[in-house]
Amino acid sequence: MPRFNDYKHKNAKFQTCFPWIRLARMVLTMLLLSLCLSGCRRQDPSAQISDVGFYFDTVVELRLNGTDDQNLIDKCFEKMGQYEALLSRTREESDVWRINHSAGEPVEVSDDTAALITLAEKYYELSDGAFDITVAPYVTIWDFQNNPGKVPAAASIAAARVHVGLSLLHLDGNTVTLDDPRASIDLGGIAKGYIADRLKEYLVSEGVTSGYINLGGNMLTIGTKPGDVPWNIGIRRPFGEASDVIATVKVDGLSVVTSGPYERYFEKDGTIYHHILNPADGYPVQNGLASVTILSESSADGDALSTSCFVLGLDRGLKLIESLDGVEALFITDDMKLHSSSGFPISD
Ligand code: ADP
Ligand code: MG
Repeated sequence: MPRFNDYKHKNAKFQTCFPWIRLARMVLTMLLLSLCLSGCRRQDPSAQISDVGFYFDTVVELRLNGTDDQNLIDKCFEKMGQYEALLSRTREESDVWRINHSAGEPVEVSDDTAALITLAEKYYELSDGAFDITVAPYVTIWDFQNNPGKVPAAASIAAARVHVGLSLLHLDGNTVTLDDPRASIDLGGIAKGYIADRLKEYLVSEGVTSGYINLGGNMLTIGTKPGDVPWNIGIRRPFGEASDVIATVKVDGLSVVTSGPYERYFEKDGTIYHHILNPADGYPVQNGLASVTILSESSADGDALSTSCFVLGLDRGLKLIESLDGVEALFITDDMKLHSSSGFPISD
């Protein structure tokens, strides 16, 4: 037990240290002041930085206005690398890889993975099963990443069918269980949007007020362009050149996400086989749609909805969009006609 005198002794020591503490405090204040000044310099309204990288098997681009702090961009790329290591289906030891190789055993996952699965469950419900992350066995069979143009045997697709269905997946807190050892998940239809949201959160918390995050066409804007000018985002003509824009949309802080077969496909005997699959039969969706673009606050919502609506088709997709608040959509049919939801702010 310390005695009263012990405390008195410590107090006396504190008293003698006092001038040093004052000095330390002064140095700290000067340091903070100089940091603030250099920070203020970085908030130069005419400053602008941008960079490109390759993550999630696609080209990513960042642009920040009003800052020249390259650390912000470097940190975003670092975060993208971390998300890739966590969510990739093919990277060994990622959360998704561990779920898919769990042989029916429960797996502990990160908060991000649990949040993504929760969102995926929400969109499965909303889309009446059109958006289903358990399509992974089909994704593996089609393997659009490496497929040189071979249509898989109908029997192998039919055999995979019993291993697909969200009822096979259970999430309890951060614990994921797949009932069927041959079932698997693929977050490719939602992950880029979720990651874009997290990157924007980080940039905004660092004081960024203008810029965009483009993850392979999954576009999320921050504020407006300098001078309060909205961003003018081009929507690609399906199957056209990357620079061939069919429509543009003016946005201020919103996400613009497009799903279309032209992102990953091959053509065989006049049929286009692409990477958006119908969970009901395991085949690429053929419903007369060439692309679906979603405008929303959250890019994860936009990503899940663009894939969902593409699978649902024009009529059911439009109905779903009209039933949701704060979300608009532009559907483009194979004849290159535009069909927009009631509030879609198309520019030309
Ligand atoms: P992109 O990856 O080109 O941005 P999408 O967001 O539309 O395109 O996602 C397509 C990806 O989602 C596919 O490559 C596949 O990994 C996965 N996927 C395919 N069909 C479905 C589906 N019906 N539901 C959920 N995910 C799907
Ligand atoms: Mg998507």
